[in-house]
Amino acid sequence: MPISSAFAASASRPIPLVSSGSWCLAPNTSCEDGPWWRAQSERTTVRLRQATATYVGLDGLTSDPDFGEAVRLLWQWPEGRRELIAAADRGVTIVQGPHRPSANTDSFATYQESTLTIEVAYEDMDVPTWMVADLLAHELRHANDLGLPGDMWSSRQGCFALEERAYATEQRYMTWLANRFGPLPSDAAETDAELSYAADDLYANMMHLNNTDDIAAQVRIDYANAC
Ligand SMILES: [Zn+2]
Repeated sequence: MPISSAFAASASRPIPLVSSGSWCLAPNTSCEDGPWWRAQSERTTVRLRQATATYVGLDGLTSDPDFGEAVRLLWQWPEGRRELIAAADRGVTIVQGPHRPSANTDSFATYQESTLTIEVAYEDMDVPTWMVADLLAHELRHANDLGLPGDMWSSRQGCFALEERAYATEQRYMTWLANRFGPLPSDAAETDAELSYAADDLYANMMHLNNTDDIAAQVRIDYANAC
């Protein structure tokens, strides 16, 4: 994982968003090395992590600077851009933190409505950028759904419905990614790349979801205890 002070400037200067092309921010060169799916985001030092990133033209959204490249990738997906804009209107914040939910809950990342905060577990930051962006797509769906009026999500069925919508969002995201950048990595390619344990874990989760044709059934398995 590259560690850089590149985001020192980002602490006080909004991160620019781009409609197409590379989502990498200089001086991260990992977008140029190997297949697109290997690119990993630059990570800031702990000291700089206390800084908050903002985004040009997206007032209201703030994040830990380490999410800058994942947000730039998501911004290129039309649906992702709509979700980011809606979340910015709500004042959502994206952070990384120690919270790793149990295997029986919405693992990897969480969204808390009371604080309007998406949190990705520290260890799950050590994955390629397209996987971080997938976690954000899922949690942004929750953030924007929970912003809708009414209490339609408060029941167990509502909880399942929320997760179905988030899973469907992830599927559409992966379809877009493959169309835009080329095939997602095969099992063998992902293994050969010798990514982190977190990446192997998340990759397996994402591919399982990508290949299921019954999201509702999958949700009832994965969220049986969480909902
Ligand atoms: Zn969820």
